[in-house]
Amino acid sequence: MSKKIVSDIDPASLAGRTVLVRADLNVPIADGRISDDRRVRASLPTLRLLTSAGARVVLLSHLGRPKGAPDPKYSLKPVADRLAELLNRSVRFVPESAGPAVRTAVESLSEGDVALLENTRFHPGDTANDPELAASWAALGDLFVNDAFGAAHRAHASTSGLAEAVKARGGEAVAGLLMARELRFLGEALERPERPFVAILGGAKISGKIDVIGALLPRVDRLLIGGAMANTFFKALGLETGGSLVEDDRVEVARRTLQEAGERLLLPVDCVVAAEIAEGSTTRVVERSQVGADDRIGDVGPATREVYAKEIAAARTIVWNGPMGVFEIDAFAEGTTAMARAVATACDGGATAVLGGGDSAAAVDRAGVADRITHVSTGGGASLEFLAGAALPGVEALTEGSAA
Ligand code: ADP
Ligand code: MG
Repeated sequence: MSKKIVSDIDPASLAGRTVLVRADLNVPIADGRISDDRRVRASLPTLRLLTSAGARVVLLSHLGRPKGAPDPKYSLKPVADRLAELLNRSVRFVPESAGPAVRTAVESLSEGDVALLENTRFHPGDTANDPELAASWAALGDLFVNDAFGAAHRAHASTSGLAEAVKARGGEAVAGLLMARELRFLGEALERPERPFVAILGGAKISGKIDVIGALLPRVDRLLIGGAMANTFFKALGLETGGSLVEDDRVEVARRTLQEAGERLLLPVDCVVAAEIAEGSTTRVVERSQVGADDRIGDVGPATREVYAKEIAAARTIVWNGPMGVFEIDAFAEGTTAMARAVATACDGGATAVLGGGDSAAAVDRAGVADRITHVSTGGGASLEFLAGAALPGVEALTEGSAA
Protein backbone atom coordinates (compact mmCIF):
# COMPACT_ATOMS: atom_id res chain seq x y z
CA MET A 1 0.00 0.00 0.00
CA SER A 2 1.30 3.43 -0.84
CA LYS A 3 -1.46 5.37 0.82
CA LYS A 4 -0.65 8.20 3.17
CA ILE A 5 -1.00 7.29 6.85
CA VAL A 6 -2.02 9.53 9.74
CA SER A 7 1.41 9.00 11.31
CA ASP A 8 2.98 10.58 8.17
CA ILE A 9 1.44 13.90 9.17
CA ASP A 10 3.47 16.36 11.23
CA PRO A 11 1.80 16.27 14.69
CA ALA A 12 2.43 19.99 15.10
CA SER A 13 0.02 20.61 12.22
CA LEU A 14 -2.74 18.75 14.06
CA ALA A 15 -3.09 21.03 17.07
CA GLY A 16 -6.47 22.74 17.05
CA ARG A 17 -7.35 21.20 13.70
CA THR A 18 -10.74 19.51 13.20
CA VAL A 19 -10.08 15.96 12.05
CA LEU A 20 -12.83 13.66 10.79
CA VAL A 21 -12.24 10.04 11.72
CA ARG A 22 -14.25 7.13 10.35
CA ALA A 23 -13.79 4.18 12.67
CA ASP A 24 -15.41 0.77 12.67
CA LEU A 25 -17.21 0.80 16.00
CA ASN A 26 -19.73 -1.76 14.80
CA VAL A 27 -19.78 -3.87 17.95
CA PRO A 28 -22.36 -6.40 19.14
CA ILE A 29 -24.76 -4.74 21.61
CA ALA A 30 -27.48 -6.49 23.58
CA ASP A 31 -29.70 -4.63 26.08
CA GLY A 32 -27.48 -1.57 25.84
CA ARG A 33 -24.37 -3.55 26.74
CA ILE A 34 -21.37 -4.20 24.49
CA SER A 35 -20.58 -7.91 24.51
CA ASP A 36 -17.30 -7.62 22.58
CA ASP A 37 -15.40 -4.32 22.53
CA ARG A 38 -12.50 -5.54 20.36
CA ARG A 39 -13.26 -3.02 17.61
CA VAL A 40 -13.49 -0.13 20.06
CA ARG A 41 -10.10 -1.05 21.49
CA ALA A 42 -8.61 -1.45 18.02
CA SER A 43 -9.56 2.14 17.20
CA LEU A 44 -7.71 3.60 20.20
CA PRO A 45 -4.19 4.06 18.73
CA THR A 46 -5.38 6.48 16.04
CA LEU A 47 -7.58 8.37 18.49
CA ARG A 48 -4.75 8.65 21.02
CA LEU A 49 -2.37 9.91 18.35
CA LEU A 50 -4.84 12.62 17.33
CA THR A 51 -5.97 13.71 20.79
CA SER A 52 -2.45 13.90 22.16
CA ALA A 53 -1.51 16.10 19.20
CA GLY A 54 -4.37 18.42 20.18
CA ALA A 55 -6.69 17.67 17.27
CA ARG A 56 -10.42 18.21 17.61
CA VAL A 57 -11.70 14.78 16.69
CA VAL A 58 -15.06 14.17 15.03
CA LEU A 59 -15.68 10.44 15.05
CA LEU A 60 -18.06 8.68 12.68
CA SER A 61 -19.13 5.04 12.56
CA HIS A 62 -22.02 2.85 11.61
CA LEU A 63 -23.48 0.22 13.90
CA GLY A 64 -25.53 -2.72 12.65
CA ARG A 65 -28.03 -2.39 9.87
CA PRO A 66 -30.69 0.19 10.77
CA LYS A 67 -33.01 0.82 7.86
CA GLY A 68 -31.78 4.34 7.04
CA ALA A 69 -33.65 5.85 9.99
CA PRO A 70 -32.96 6.33 13.69
CA ASP A 71 -33.47 3.16 15.71
CA PRO A 72 -32.48 3.23 19.41
CA LYS A 73 -31.38 -0.41 19.17
CA TYR A 74 -28.49 0.72 16.98
CA SER A 75 -27.49 3.85 18.88
CA LEU A 76 -23.76 4.45 19.34
CA LYS A 77 -24.36 5.93 22.79
CA PRO A 78 -23.07 2.83 24.66
CA VAL A 79 -19.99 2.94 22.45
CA ALA A 80 -19.34 6.58 23.41
CA ASP A 81 -19.41 5.56 27.08
CA ARG A 82 -17.06 2.63 26.54
CA LEU A 83 -14.74 4.76 24.44
CA ALA A 84 -14.56 7.38 27.18
CA GLU A 85 -13.54 4.69 29.69
CA LEU A 86 -10.87 3.28 27.42
CA LEU A 87 -9.50 6.68 26.35
CA ASN A 88 -9.73 7.97 29.88
CA ARG A 89 -11.20 11.24 28.67
CA SER A 90 -14.70 12.48 28.06
CA VAL A 91 -16.27 11.66 24.73
CA ARG A 92 -19.07 13.95 23.65
CA PHE A 93 -21.92 11.95 22.14
CA VAL A 94 -23.83 13.86 19.45
CA PRO A 95 -27.28 12.27 19.06
CA GLU A 96 -27.38 13.19 15.36
CA SER A 97 -25.12 12.08 12.55
CA ALA A 98 -25.69 15.08 10.26
CA GLY A 99 -27.24 18.54 10.29
CA PRO A 100 -26.99 21.68 12.42
CA ALA A 101 -26.63 19.83 15.75
CA VAL A 102 -23.43 18.28 14.45
CA ARG A 103 -22.01 21.62 13.36
CA THR A 104 -22.82 23.20 16.73
CA ALA A 105 -21.21 20.32 18.63
CA VAL A 106 -18.10 20.42 16.48
CA GLU A 107 -17.73 24.18 16.91
CA SER A 108 -17.66 23.78 20.67
CA LEU A 109 -14.82 21.22 20.68
CA SER A 110 -11.53 22.20 22.33
CA GLU A 111 -8.08 20.87 21.48
CA GLY A 112 -7.86 17.13 22.22
CA ASP A 113 -11.64 16.71 22.50
CA VAL A 114 -13.52 13.84 20.89
CA ALA A 115 -17.11 13.94 19.63
CA LEU A 116 -18.78 10.74 18.49
CA LEU A 117 -21.64 11.30 16.07
CA GLU A 118 -24.69 9.05 16.12
CA ASN A 119 -24.80 6.02 13.77
CA THR A 120 -24.12 7.20 10.21
CA ARG A 121 -26.62 4.66 8.90
CA PHE A 122 -29.49 6.46 10.63
CA HIS A 123 -29.22 8.53 7.47
CA PRO A 124 -30.17 6.67 4.25
CA GLY A 125 -27.48 8.63 2.41
CA ASP A 126 -24.66 6.73 4.07
CA THR A 127 -25.09 3.36 2.36
CA ALA A 128 -26.38 5.14 -0.77
CA ASN A 129 -23.09 7.06 -0.88
CA ASP A 130 -24.98 10.34 -1.14
CA PRO A 131 -22.48 13.04 -2.20
CA GLU A 132 -24.43 15.74 -0.35
CA LEU A 133 -24.18 13.88 2.94
CA ALA A 134 -20.47 13.29 2.37
CA ALA A 135 -19.99 16.98 1.53
CA SER A 136 -21.79 18.04 4.73
CA TRP A 137 -19.24 16.07 6.78
CA ALA A 138 -16.35 17.25 4.64
CA ALA A 139 -17.35 20.85 5.38
CA LEU A 140 -16.39 20.26 9.02
CA GLY A 141 -12.66 19.77 8.45
CA ASP A 142 -9.89 19.36 5.89
CA LEU A 143 -8.38 16.12 7.18
CA PHE A 144 -10.15 12.78 6.99
CA VAL A 145 -8.70 9.69 8.64
CA ASN A 146 -10.26 6.43 7.56
CA ASP A 147 -9.54 3.80 10.19
CA ALA A 148 -12.57 1.62 9.40
CA PHE A 149 -10.96 -1.37 7.75
CA GLY A 150 -14.06 -3.43 8.51
CA ALA A 151 -16.13 -1.10 6.30
CA ALA A 152 -13.50 -0.49 3.63
CA HIS A 153 -15.12 -2.88 1.15
CA ARG A 154 -18.18 -0.65 0.97
CA ALA A 155 -18.41 2.56 -1.04
CA HIS A 156 -20.47 4.55 1.44
CA ALA A 157 -20.78 8.27 2.15
CA SER A 158 -18.87 7.91 5.43
CA THR A 159 -16.05 5.90 3.82
CA SER A 160 -14.99 6.52 0.21
CA GLY A 161 -17.58 9.30 -0.30
CA LEU A 162 -16.18 11.37 2.54
CA ALA A 163 -12.62 10.79 1.33
CA GLU A 164 -13.54 12.06 -2.12
CA ALA A 165 -15.43 15.04 -0.68
CA VAL A 166 -12.53 16.10 1.54
CA LYS A 167 -10.07 15.80 -1.33
CA ALA A 168 -12.42 17.79 -3.60
CA ARG A 169 -12.15 20.66 -1.11
CA GLY A 170 -8.36 20.49 -1.19
CA GLY A 171 -7.97 18.44 1.97
CA GLU A 172 -6.38 15.07 2.57
CA ALA A 173 -7.81 11.61 3.23
CA VAL A 174 -5.37 9.30 5.00
CA ALA A 175 -5.33 5.82 6.49
CA GLY A 176 -5.58 5.44 10.25
CA LEU A 177 -3.14 3.28 12.19
CA LEU A 178 -5.48 0.30 12.35
CA MET A 179 -6.30 0.53 8.66
CA ALA A 180 -2.58 0.68 7.87
CA ARG A 181 -1.84 -2.29 10.11
CA GLU A 182 -4.59 -4.41 8.58
CA LEU A 183 -3.42 -3.63 5.05
CA ARG A 184 0.21 -4.25 5.93
CA PHE A 185 -0.36 -7.71 7.41
CA LEU A 186 -2.80 -8.88 4.76
CA GLY A 187 -0.79 -7.31 1.96
CA GLU A 188 2.51 -8.81 3.06
CA ALA A 189 0.96 -12.26 3.42
CA LEU A 190 -0.25 -12.05 -0.17
CA GLU A 191 2.67 -10.25 -1.79
CA ARG A 192 5.73 -11.41 0.11
CA PRO A 193 4.84 -14.51 2.08
CA GLU A 194 7.64 -16.31 3.79
CA ARG A 195 7.20 -19.95 2.74
CA PRO A 196 5.68 -22.37 3.33
CA PHE A 197 2.49 -20.30 3.05
CA VAL A 198 -0.54 -22.14 4.41
CA ALA A 199 -4.12 -20.89 4.21
CA ILE A 200 -6.91 -22.32 6.34
CA LEU A 201 -10.47 -21.76 5.18
CA GLY A 202 -13.59 -22.87 6.98
CA GLY A 203 -16.89 -21.47 8.14
CA ALA A 204 -20.45 -21.85 7.10
CA LYS A 205 -20.53 -21.21 3.40
CA ILE A 206 -18.41 -21.89 0.39
CA SER A 207 -20.33 -19.31 -1.67
CA GLY A 208 -18.91 -16.33 0.19
CA LYS A 209 -15.40 -17.67 0.00
CA ILE A 210 -15.07 -19.32 -3.40
CA ASP A 211 -13.39 -16.21 -4.84
CA VAL A 212 -10.92 -16.31 -1.98
CA ILE A 213 -10.12 -19.93 -2.73
CA GLY A 214 -9.53 -19.03 -6.37
CA ALA A 215 -7.28 -16.10 -5.52
CA LEU A 216 -5.30 -17.93 -2.83
CA LEU A 217 -4.68 -21.18 -4.68
CA PRO A 218 -1.95 -19.89 -7.00
CA ARG A 219 -0.19 -18.19 -4.05
CA VAL A 220 -0.26 -20.75 -1.27
CA ASP A 221 1.69 -23.93 -0.70
CA ARG A 222 -1.26 -25.53 1.08
CA LEU A 223 -4.93 -24.72 1.43
CA LEU A 224 -6.58 -26.52 4.34
CA ILE A 225 -10.36 -26.75 4.08
CA GLY A 226 -12.71 -27.27 7.02
CA GLY A 227 -16.13 -26.18 8.24
CA ALA A 228 -19.31 -26.67 6.27
CA MET A 229 -17.56 -25.64 3.08
CA ALA A 230 -15.72 -28.98 3.17
CA ASN A 231 -19.10 -30.69 2.80
CA THR A 232 -19.69 -29.14 -0.60
CA PHE A 233 -16.29 -30.46 -1.68
CA PHE A 234 -17.23 -33.91 -0.31
CA LYS A 235 -20.34 -33.85 -2.42
CA ALA A 236 -18.23 -32.86 -5.43
CA LEU A 237 -16.18 -35.99 -4.80
CA GLY A 238 -19.37 -38.03 -4.84
CA LEU A 239 -19.29 -38.74 -1.10
CA GLU A 240 -22.35 -39.11 1.12
CA THR A 241 -22.93 -35.96 3.20
CA GLY A 242 -26.18 -37.02 4.92
CA GLY A 243 -28.05 -34.09 6.44
CA SER A 244 -24.97 -31.84 6.54
CA LEU A 245 -24.98 -28.25 5.38
CA VAL A 246 -24.16 -28.42 1.65
CA GLU A 247 -24.53 -25.76 -1.03
CA ASP A 248 -25.86 -27.75 -3.94
CA ASP A 249 -25.49 -24.89 -6.38
CA ARG A 250 -21.74 -24.76 -5.65
CA VAL A 251 -20.93 -28.43 -6.13
CA GLU A 252 -19.89 -27.86 -9.73
CA VAL A 253 -17.50 -25.00 -8.92
CA ALA A 254 -16.13 -27.09 -6.05
CA ARG A 255 -15.45 -29.93 -8.50
CA ARG A 256 -13.59 -27.59 -10.87
CA THR A 257 -11.62 -26.12 -7.97
CA LEU A 258 -10.52 -29.59 -6.89
CA GLN A 259 -9.30 -30.36 -10.40
CA GLU A 260 -7.31 -27.14 -10.64
CA ALA A 261 -5.92 -27.30 -7.12
CA GLY A 262 -4.31 -30.72 -7.25
CA GLU A 263 -2.30 -31.57 -4.16
CA ARG A 264 -2.26 -28.07 -2.79
CA LEU A 265 -5.83 -28.35 -1.51
CA LEU A 266 -6.41 -30.60 1.51
CA LEU A 267 -9.84 -31.78 2.60
CA PRO A 268 -10.68 -33.35 5.96
CA VAL A 269 -10.02 -37.10 6.04
CA ASP A 270 -12.43 -37.71 8.92
CA CYS A 271 -15.37 -35.95 10.54
CA VAL A 272 -17.24 -35.63 13.81
CA VAL A 273 -20.88 -36.44 13.05
CA ALA A 274 -24.17 -36.56 14.95
CA ALA A 275 -27.84 -36.99 14.18
CA GLU A 276 -28.37 -33.39 15.29
CA ILE A 277 -25.88 -30.53 15.55
CA ALA A 278 -26.98 -29.54 19.02
CA GLU A 279 -25.78 -29.19 22.59
CA GLY A 280 -25.61 -32.63 24.20
CA SER A 281 -25.75 -34.61 20.92
CA THR A 282 -24.07 -37.99 20.86
CA THR A 283 -21.21 -37.75 18.39
CA ARG A 284 -19.18 -40.25 16.38
CA VAL A 285 -15.93 -39.97 14.49
CA VAL A 286 -16.07 -41.41 10.97
CA GLU A 287 -13.84 -41.40 7.93
CA ARG A 288 -15.12 -39.00 5.32
CA SER A 289 -16.21 -41.94 3.15
CA GLN A 290 -18.28 -43.39 5.99
CA VAL A 291 -20.72 -40.55 6.64
CA GLY A 292 -24.21 -42.03 6.90
CA ALA A 293 -27.40 -40.80 5.25
CA ASP A 294 -28.73 -39.65 8.66
CA ASP A 295 -25.48 -38.03 9.82
CA ARG A 296 -24.68 -34.37 10.02
CA ILE A 297 -21.06 -33.25 9.90
CA GLY A 298 -20.26 -30.82 12.72
CA ASP A 299 -16.46 -30.78 12.87
CA VAL A 300 -13.26 -32.17 11.40
CA GLY A 301 -12.05 -35.38 13.04
CA PRO A 302 -8.86 -36.20 15.00
CA ALA A 303 -6.92 -37.56 12.00
CA THR A 304 -7.62 -34.33 10.13
CA ARG A 305 -6.55 -32.27 13.13
CA GLU A 306 -3.26 -34.11 13.10
CA VAL A 307 -2.64 -33.68 9.35
CA TYR A 308 -3.57 -29.99 9.45
CA ALA A 309 -1.56 -29.30 12.61
CA LYS A 310 1.54 -30.71 10.90
CA GLU A 311 1.06 -28.43 7.92
CA ILE A 312 0.58 -25.47 10.24
CA ALA A 313 3.66 -26.36 12.29
CA ALA A 314 5.77 -26.27 9.12
CA ALA A 315 4.29 -22.96 7.89
CA ARG A 316 6.04 -19.59 8.04
CA THR A 317 3.00 -17.62 6.85
CA ILE A 318 -0.57 -18.51 7.79
CA VAL A 319 -3.84 -16.92 6.72
CA TRP A 320 -6.93 -18.24 8.46
CA ASN A 321 -10.58 -17.47 7.86
CA GLY A 322 -13.49 -19.51 9.14
CA PRO A 323 -13.84 -22.08 11.95
CA MET A 324 -13.32 -25.81 11.27
CA GLY A 325 -16.63 -26.79 12.84
CA VAL A 326 -19.63 -25.62 14.82
CA PHE A 327 -17.28 -24.36 17.53
CA GLU A 328 -20.12 -22.69 19.43
CA ILE A 329 -21.07 -26.19 20.64
CA ASP A 330 -18.44 -27.95 22.75
CA ALA A 331 -18.87 -31.33 21.06
CA PHE A 332 -17.94 -29.77 17.70
CA ALA A 333 -15.30 -27.28 18.89
CA GLU A 334 -12.22 -29.47 19.07
CA GLY A 335 -11.21 -29.10 15.41
CA THR A 336 -11.25 -25.30 15.64
CA THR A 337 -9.56 -25.29 19.04
CA ALA A 338 -6.80 -27.60 17.79
CA MET A 339 -6.18 -25.32 14.78
CA ALA A 340 -6.14 -22.27 17.06
CA ARG A 341 -3.51 -23.92 19.25
CA ALA A 342 -1.46 -25.05 16.26
CA VAL A 343 -1.50 -21.54 14.76
CA ALA A 344 -0.58 -19.95 18.10
CA THR A 345 2.31 -22.40 18.53
CA ALA A 346 3.54 -21.65 15.00
CA CYS A 347 3.49 -17.94 15.88
CA ASP A 348 5.46 -18.64 19.08
CA GLY A 349 8.05 -20.19 16.77
CA GLY A 350 8.26 -17.10 14.58
CA ALA A 351 5.61 -17.72 11.93
CA THR A 352 3.31 -14.86 10.90
CA ALA A 353 -0.42 -15.57 11.12
CA VAL A 354 -3.27 -13.32 10.05
CA LEU A 355 -6.76 -14.28 11.11
CA GLY A 356 -9.90 -12.81 9.57
CA GLY A 357 -13.61 -13.22 10.28
CA GLY A 358 -15.77 -12.37 13.25
CA ASP A 359 -16.56 -15.96 14.19
CA SER A 360 -12.95 -17.02 13.75
CA ALA A 361 -11.83 -14.21 16.05
CA ALA A 362 -14.39 -15.34 18.63
CA ALA A 363 -13.11 -18.91 18.27
CA VAL A 364 -9.46 -18.04 18.98
CA ASP A 365 -10.64 -15.95 21.93
CA ARG A 366 -12.56 -18.92 23.24
CA ALA A 367 -9.48 -21.11 22.78
CA GLY A 368 -7.55 -18.54 24.82
CA VAL A 369 -4.82 -18.01 22.21
CA ALA A 370 -5.81 -14.70 20.55
CA ASP A 371 -2.86 -12.85 22.11
CA ARG A 372 -0.34 -15.22 20.55
CA ILE A 373 -1.60 -14.76 16.99
CA THR A 374 0.32 -12.13 14.99
CA HIS A 375 -2.70 -10.23 13.76
CA VAL A 376 -6.40 -10.78 14.37
CA SER A 377 -8.18 -8.70 11.76
CA THR A 378 -11.18 -6.57 12.74
CA GLY A 379 -12.67 -6.99 9.27
CA GLY A 380 -14.54 -10.08 8.17
CA GLY A 381 -15.98 -9.14 4.79
CA ALA A 382 -13.22 -6.62 4.08
CA SER A 383 -10.44 -9.12 4.75
CA LEU A 384 -12.13 -11.67 2.50
CA GLU A 385 -12.49 -9.13 -0.31
CA PHE A 386 -8.86 -8.19 0.11
CA LEU A 387 -7.75 -11.83 0.04
CA ALA A 388 -9.87 -12.38 -3.07
CA GLY A 389 -7.86 -9.62 -4.74
CA ALA A 390 -10.67 -7.07 -4.88
CA ALA A 391 -9.97 -3.35 -4.55
CA LEU A 392 -11.41 -1.83 -1.36
CA PRO A 393 -13.22 1.45 -2.17
CA GLY A 394 -12.51 2.88 1.29
CA VAL A 395 -8.78 2.40 0.66
CA GLU A 396 -8.72 3.34 -3.01
CA ALA A 397 -10.15 6.78 -2.22
CA LEU A 398 -7.30 7.71 0.13
CA THR A 399 -4.50 10.15 -0.72
CA GLU A 400 -1.35 8.56 -2.12
CA GLY A 401 1.66 8.56 0.20
CA SER A 402 5.07 9.86 -0.86
CA ALA A 403 6.91 6.59 -0.26
CA ALA A 404 5.81 3.09 0.72
P1 ADP B 1 -16.13 -16.01 9.96
O1 ADP B 1 -17.12 -15.15 10.69
O2 ADP B 1 -14.93 -16.31 10.78
O3 ADP B 1 -15.81 -15.48 8.59
P2 ADP B 1 -18.18 -17.72 8.94
O4 ADP B 1 -19.20 -16.70 9.32
O5 ADP B 1 -17.93 -17.95 7.50
O6 ADP B 1 -16.81 -17.43 9.72
O7 ADP B 1 -18.62 -19.13 9.54
C1 ADP B 1 -18.77 -19.34 10.91
C2 ADP B 1 -19.88 -20.30 11.19
O8 ADP B 1 -19.68 -21.52 10.47
C3 ADP B 1 -19.96 -20.67 12.63
O9 ADP B 1 -21.16 -20.18 13.18
C4 ADP B 1 -19.95 -22.21 12.63
O10 ADP B 1 -20.89 -22.76 13.51
C5 ADP B 1 -20.31 -22.54 11.20
N1 ADP B 1 -19.85 -23.87 10.80
C6 ADP B 1 -18.59 -24.33 10.80
N2 ADP B 1 -18.56 -25.62 10.45
C7 ADP B 1 -19.84 -25.99 10.22
C8 ADP B 1 -20.49 -27.22 9.84
N3 ADP B 1 -19.78 -28.32 9.61
N4 ADP B 1 -21.84 -27.22 9.71
C9 ADP B 1 -22.54 -26.09 9.96
N5 ADP B 1 -22.01 -24.92 10.30
C10 ADP B 1 -20.67 -24.87 10.45
MG1 MG C 1 -19.27 -14.95 10.44
